[in-house]
Formats: sequence, structure tokens, C-alpha cells
Amino acid sequence: MSLSEATDSPKIASLKGVGAKTLERLAKLSLHKVQDLLFHLPSRYENRTTLMPLGTVRVGDQALVEGQVEVTEIVSRARRSLVCRISDGTGFLYLRFFHFSGDQLSRLKPGTRLRCFGEVRDGYYGTEMVHPDYQPIADEEAGRINQSLTPVYPSTEGLHQKTIRGLVEKALDLCIENDALLQEWIPEELLASLNLPPLCEAVRILHQPSAESATELLGQAQQRLSFEELLAHHLSVSRFRNHMRQQAAPVLSLSKKVSKQFLDSLPFALTGAQNRVIREIAADLKSSKPMMRLVQGDVGSGKTVVAAWAALAALSSRFQVAFMAPTELLAEQHYRSFSHWLEPLGVQVAYLAGKHKGQIRRETLEAIADGRAGAVLGTHALFQEEVKFHRLGLVVIDEQHRFGVHQRLALREKGARDGLYPHQLIMTATPIPRTLAMLGYADLDVSIIDELPPGRSPVKTSVIPSTRRHEVIARIDDWVKGGKQVYWVCTLIEESEALECEAAENTAASLIEALPNVRIGLVHGRMKSAEKEDVMAAFKSGAIDLLVATTVIEVGVDVPNAGLMVIENPERLGLAQLHQLRGRVGRGPGDSFCVLMYQPPLTLGAKERLGILRETSDGFVIAEKDLELRGPGELLGIRQTGQVQFRIADLGRDSDLLDQVKATAETLLDHHPDSVEPLLRRWLADGVRYAEV
Ligand code: ADP
Ligand code: MG
Repeated sequence: MSLSEATDSPKIASLKGVGAKTLERLAKLSLHKVQDLLFHLPSRYENRTTLMPLGTVRVGDQALVEGQVEVTEIVSRARRSLVCRISDGTGFLYLRFFHFSGDQLSRLKPGTRLRCFGEVRDGYYGTEMVHPDYQPIADEEAGRINQSLTPVYPSTEGLHQKTIRGLVEKALDLCIENDALLQEWIPEELLASLNLPPLCEAVRILHQPSAESATELLGQAQQRLSFEELLAHHLSVSRFRNHMRQQAAPVLSLSKKVSKQFLDSLPFALTGAQNRVIREIAADLKSSKPMMRLVQGDVGSGKTVVAAWAALAALSSRFQVAFMAPTELLAEQHYRSFSHWLEPLGVQVAYLAGKHKGQIRRETLEAIADGRAGAVLGTHALFQEEVKFHRLGLVVIDEQHRFGVHQRLALREKGARDGLYPHQLIMTATPIPRTLAMLGYADLDVSIIDELPPGRSPVKTSVIPSTRRHEVIARIDDWVKGGKQVYWVCTLIEESEALECEAAENTAASLIEALPNVRIGLVHGRMKSAEKEDVMAAFKSGAIDLLVATTVIEVGVDVPNAGLMVIENPERLGLAQLHQLRGRVGRGPGDSFCVLMYQPPLTLGAKERLGILRETSDGFVIAEKDLELRGPGELLGIRQTGQVQFRIADLGRDSDLLDQVKATAETLLDHHPDSVEPLLRRWLADGVRYAEV
């Protein structure tokens, strides 16, 4: 038996008196092991530390009371219920149960002493409690009150608080017998310097806090657990990263001559930021260690051309490049840019589209497998089993936030050959707040393109109600008369793509009627790729003035002459997504505009979100706000993947801890490597761990 197995937590099933039904319900809450119970923290506490004489309770109080049953009976007034009157000499209280058993009736017999907790209400007979928490108590226990606060746990149907409380108590008792259960893996001197309590103490405080001094102690105890959980995640990522750095990758370089030839062929000069990032990438590619680099750059900052440069480096070193985009639309667009840029230099560019079947598909797969296709563009279809690369040297992933961490890693594994791993370049327009970057992306180096190409001015954003739709339509008419193009984005709740497409169709129809002189096109997710492509191409070439679209155009699409965007129902989208959408405009010379046309009335939250967009176009500010308002799931792509989910830590609340987490992780890896594995085992479920290394 290995050390880690020996310290593994026993199953809840091994506790005395836990039935199968209960286990099933616990499993719904992901509670399987005793340790899970210990880390199942109360969502709140009730103060049941003061006993109130019945004569003093008032309607509205949450009160703990004791009394003797005087009478219990079933009454049928209005609704059948069990009513029980208790008294303590100072007054009476009625307990009322709408759901009850015959058994209950017999247990509440006169003379029984009860302790009850609940909200006092004004009832038919006098003050009452409906479905109070109650327990019979022996005479000698009367008035002896537990001085800790009463925990209220997150639960599920059929699982009573009493049951969870009882189990947690058993689990805590077990910790006294079995030190290993909450074994301390953070060395004492580190804990002291962090001013955090030991794990064991923290867990106990959280389940059984005393009524005095509770707030401060609880805060510290919760931080202690968050800290350890974040630490475990950080260790996992760091270890993975170190492991990667020990692997070998092909050495890729681009001669000055070819680089110049490529750059000279572009219709623009690179910005300083683009040049800097290219230098950073070039250094990585030359190093014979796999590059793991994230390029962050706001929408329109010109990430694609940077990726094309990296691709060219791989290609001229006779390696292939896989370029993965989140949507077909975007993959197609990149395919066109890459063909345009690289084919003159003798590179064969391939596009592995979902729509291609039969002969075309077979031929593309063959060209990829025998290496004729140098640059291969596509969506996550590039992962498919049947796609085999000849010599993959570089993987580029665009708009990473759309993919999960494991997809990113899978593509990397796929390209591994002869002990060489491909380099990875990941691009995102969603600026990742520092806090998240440390956890979800700690295995990556980061380059930032913090400069937009010259001549771009910020998009002027206005927020107006849909009651002014006619004004917006009139404005479109003028705008198009000036030779410019417009996006009209229809949004709907995301669960229903069908409805969204229908809304877009209806909108297009009504706009065609309202704007007879405007050439209008429509794209949505339910159209065939070829149709979409035709419409997009027509819009790009200027044959369409107004493009009605669903959020499929969210990422990457590039039409500089389109300087006005109307977004319908923006209140339904998150900030980051709106920022992405808005990034479609403001790509050409001259002023550009975004009209956020909401459906009144706006909630306060929506008002705040839209206000932020109106005031800033700084992607970082927007991402930080988004994190604040919506939590980290969206940004990390967790929703799709279930990758980083914390049991206790909350990045909104606990982000202050992260610097110390990072420092502690380094110390542990350097000086206490034996602590690492047990911490990972304690906190990270198997599927969540980055890799078994
Ligand atoms: P994103 O970073 O959002 O992916 P793109 O790579 O799509 O941005 O670039 C947006 C537009 O800017 C494209 O039309 C691209 O050709 C153009 N572009 C890129 N770099 C420059 C530059 N240095 N100067 C002018 N235009 C540029
Ligand atoms: Mg892009």
C-alpha cells in the first residue's frame, strides 16, 4: 500500500448507522468520503445558544424554546394539521405540522419535554411555530444549551439537517481517533507566518463555532481551507508545467529572408507590440522545449498575423501547423487569411471543414497525413481520431476561452511523435484577470499585444431602449447612404439556438420591409456552412450593406468597413461576450458606433453591466468586472469542461490569498516535496488533475 492510499479518507458508508437512502442522497451532493463531510461547510449558522422563556417570544423571532407538551391533537380547521401546545410556566406556544405521521402524534404525548427552534408566527390559537425543528429532551438536560452556533448545511431533497449534522459530528469524532484524516501538510512555520490556523482546528471551528468571537474566527478558518484548496490547484498546475518543460520539442526558426518576405507582403507594418510578441515566440520556438504561450490581445489587436508568423517558422523548418478555431465561420476566415498570406510563399494550406465529406475529406486527410498540407485549419474537428499529422510542430489555438483546458492538452498529446511534442500558441481576446490566469493558465507563459493598429478610434457606445427602434433604423439608412456597412445582432437566451435563429429571420424580414434601399443579408447558426460563407463573403466584398446575424459572429470576423453595430437585447449577454461582439466594429478608419438596444425595463444588474460597456473599451477592465459580476466559470471555460471547480475557495472572495498561495507552492515544491502529493489527493478529484506525472 502506498503512502497516499494509507492516508486516504474512509467512506461515509463506514460510519455507524448510515442507510443506503442517506448514502444516495449524500452522493447527490458529491459526498462520498468522510473527508467530503468535513469539507462540506455550512452555508450559514443559526444562533440557538439562548433559551427564550415562552412568555417573552415575539412574532418574527427565530427562537429557541423549551416546554412541556400539554395537549396534542389533529385539527381539521381549514387544513388538516397536527397541533401541539407546550408551556414552560411563563407562557404557551403552539407547534403546528401540516405533514405528520401517526407516530409523531404518539411521541408528542402530554408531559414530554421538547426543545424547539423556529420562527414565531401569529397563529389561529396564539403564537405558533410551523414545522419547528424539535427534539424531546430528558428532564436533566433541560436548560442545558450547546454553546456553539448551529450549522445549516447545503442539502438536497430528503436529506435533513439533523442527519447531516449528526454525520458531521461523527466525522469530527473520527478525526480525534485518526490523525491522518486531517493531517497537516503545510509545515508549521509556514502556517505561522501566514497567520492561519491549523487545518484540524479550522474545520472544527467551521462546523461548531462558538457564539462569541464567531465572525473573525470563522473568517480565518474559511481562509485556511480556501488557502489549502487553492494551493493544491496551484501545485497541480505548477507540477504539470515543470513536467512539460522537461520534454523535448522541435527547434523551429525562420530565416531573416523569409521573415522579411512575409512581412513585406503585408499591406501594413506590424505594431510595436506585435513585433515584441513575435520576438518572444521566436525565442520559445528555438529553444527545443515545448512552447506553452498565451497571447492576449484585445479584439482587433492583430493576433492572427502573429500566429501566421509562428506558423511560417514551423513550416520553413519543415514541420506542420495545426490551427484550431472555435467556430467554422472563424476557421474559414483564418483559412482565407492563411491561404492569402502563405500560399505565395509556397505553403499548401488545408481546411478541414465539418461540411466536407467523402472524396474531398479523404483527400484532405491524406494530405495532412503525408505532410503535403503544411498549415491545417479547422475547428475542434482537428482532434478527431482519423486526423493524423505527418510532422506536427506547432499547434495554434484561437480564442482559447471557448475550449476547455483538456482539449488544449489533448491536441498537444496528439501531435507528440518520436519523443517530440509540438509547440503551443494560444490566443485569446478575453483578457484573463490575473487571479484566474494564475490558476487556469499557470502552465502558460503570457505575451500581451497591448497596442491596437494605428488609426483605430474607440467605438462610441450608446444604450437605448427598444422603444426607439425606429430612430435606430433611420440611422442605419443614413449610414448606408454614406457607403458604410452595418451589423445587426440578434440575441436570445442561449439554450435555444432555434429560437435565436428564428428571431434573426424575423428581424431580417422586418428590416427588409423598413429599409427598401438597403441590401440585407442574414447569417445564423442553423444555416449550412456554404450558405453562411456566401453571405459573409458578400458582406466582406460590400455586396451586402446590413448583416443581420446571431451571436455566431461573436469571435474574430473582420470587415473594416462595417462601423456600426446594433445589438438587440444586450442585457441577456455577459460583458465579455458583448465586448467581443463590439470588437467587430472599429476596425477601419473613421468613427464607429455600437448601439445597445435593450428591452425595457432593465434590471439594476443589467443597467450596471451596460453602463460599464458604455464607459470603457478596455478589455481588461471589462474582464475584471465580468469576473466580479458573474464569477469565474465563464472566463475559464469551466462551464463546458467542469475543470476547475472549487469546493470551498471562491475567487471573488479569496483572491487576496493568491500571492501567498503562489509563494507557498514554490516553497513546498522546493523544500517539502513530500507534502505535494497528499495535498493533491486531498483536494483534487482524479478527473480534475492536470495530468498524472
Ligand atoms: P484579432 O486580434 O482580434 O484576432 P485580427 O488578427 O483579426 O485581430 O486583426 C484585425 C484586423 O487588423 C485584420 O484585418 C488584420 O489584417 C489587421 N491588422 C493586423 N495587424 C495590423 C497592423 N499592424 N496594422 C494594420 N492592420 C493590422
Ligand atoms: Mg482573432
